[in-house]
Amino acid sequence: MTYQELIGKIVALQDEGLELFNAGKSVLGKNILATHVGDYSGTQILIQGGIHAREYITSLLMVEQARNLFLNNLVHGGGIYFVFLVNPDGAEIVLDGINAVNCEITKQYLTLANGGSENFSQYKANINLVDLNTNFNADWGGGSQNVFCPATEDFVGFYPESEREVQSLINFTLKTKPLLTISYHSKGNVIYYGFENQSPENVARDQSIGESLSELTGYPLIFTENSTGGYKDWCINSLKIPAYTIEVGDNSLAHPIGEENLPEIYMRNKDVPLLALEKAKEYAQSIDFLSPNVQNKVKGQNYGTNAKSYIARLNRKLEGRNSGWRSYCKGQ
Ligand SMILES: [Zn+2]
Repeated sequence: MTYQELIGKIVALQDEGLELFNAGKSVLGKNILATHVGDYSGTQILIQGGIHAREYITSLLMVEQARNLFLNNLVHGGGIYFVFLVNPDGAEIVLDGINAVNCEITKQYLTLANGGSENFSQYKANINLVDLNTNFNADWGGGSQNVFCPATEDFVGFYPESEREVQSLINFTLKTKPLLTISYHSKGNVIYYGFENQSPENVARDQSIGESLSELTGYPLIFTENSTGGYKDWCINSLKIPAYTIEVGDNSLAHPIGEENLPEIYMRNKDVPLLALEKAKEYAQSIDFLSPNVQNKVKGQNYGTNAKSYIARLNRKLEGRNSGWRSYCKGQ
């Protein structure tokens, strides 16, 4: 698969009637593509993937999920945001190789970090050699695998939220106000929940929802330990909402997990978005049991016009630079 083929699969959702928009930009200025299924009013959840370069199988999974939900008109009384590929610059290097990079110095720098090899199939970072899922401000730099020098994986960045992709996802989350988030990664067939210093009430809430997701997928539920700076961690720590990392694909598979494994992965995850939305709706109703912080967030929510006008504004801003998704896709 090439990078253009991957983007083409996301863009093709438009032909089936889904509306695509930008959740933000990558360091190299690529659009971070997103869609929304269901109603803009009521409880919202957000699902993101492709934050690690070699894990684009998660983007393909989300395309299938969004298509199924939209074509079968399955989402009511709330909505689901899909952010398909948070790290497009990294995915391009994995799929098309280092020669996809137009800058000679960057090419040399990345190749050096890659041990001199031109095989970038195992690459995880963004174009700045930052591991985006360690760059969020949630006990940043406190993870057991963190490194503090540019690298193809595990480099936390020179300071938290230094990366444009991370800033984009944070801004998009704050604007769309999801009550639950799912981060798709590969691999391992497990679901991670919880974060250090989370209140016991919220741990219990997140464990309960996680157990439902575990039962649905057959993936065991594991409490997160010694891992910090991820999007899930930030959602739990800053927003106090339930957030999960779902690692798809069996450990016996090699990175990057190929399209041929999508049917099995899709089968196990097909109903995850709907179940997650239903669980988010349920806990929103029992908000009396939650912290004042979350109660205020929930009471203050005004998803409808906020999110819709925000997306319209984002798209207007882009009109001057692109004449639509198709030209973006052909041009880059
Ligand atoms: Zn990952």
